[in-house]
Amino acid sequence: MRFDVLTLFPEMIDYVCGQSIIGRAESCGIIEVHAHNIRDYTHDVHRKVDDTPYGGGMGMLMSAPPICECHEAVMKMSDKKTRTVYMSPTGKPLTQKKALELAGYERLIILCGHYEGVDRRAVELVVDEEISIGDYVLTGGELPACVLIDCVGRTLEGVLASAECHEIESISCGMLEYPQYTRPEEYRGKRVPEVLLGGNHKKIEEYRFEAALELTRKNRPDLL
Ligand code: SAM
Repeated sequence: MRFDVLTLFPEMIDYVCGQSIIGRAESCGIIEVHAHNIRDYTHDVHRKVDDTPYGGGMGMLMSAPPICECHEAVMKMSDKKTRTVYMSPTGKPLTQKKALELAGYERLIILCGHYEGVDRRAVELVVDEEISIGDYVLTGGELPACVLIDCVGRTLEGVLASAECHEIESISCGMLEYPQYTRPEEYRGKRVPEVLLGGNHKKIEEYRFEAALELTRKNRPDLL
């Protein structure tokens, strides 16, 4: 799957997506991540990408022309089945279901805003949908874009060790995942629950189900 990110800070995308499991997926050729600098699509000597909002108000807005020209150029780089999304606090919430849906495309183009956001006309002209990563406001769309790439990328075949990883994880399994432990058996007076040391798989399964239920009731009762 190919991800094209339209941004004013391509280094952020290159660095974050080059790490860990997503970085490895890229080295293996399962995913491709390309960051494109919107500033490269300006035509003035100062390479200006923002301006004050009509009607007044605080801050600067990213202007439509460089965004649209960047999008046009990137569209021409591949003929894969594409969806363009704008990372925005005004978008619909990112969920595991949405990530799986987006993984059905061959390519995602992701627009990152900055400052006070982007001229609405750019959204109307090139964006298929807006996605928010949560009810809070960040300074730019780069971290949300990396969240989206990670979340969609790890659902693709071959990125995680086995497909089972998804099925038993929090949210996908309908509730939160059970607490897990690794060596040492005892740390600072806290022991691993005895049942996990015994090797009785039925008892372990029952314990994990109850522990998952308890955690879900405490932290995310809305899931039940
Ligand atoms: N003025 C905008 C508003 O009130 O909706 C907020 C703009 S925000 C400071 C700048 C950029 O950060 C946005 O254009 C968007 O790309 C990104 N951003 C901020 N919070 C986000 C969130 N929760 N989810 C996705 N993107 C977000």
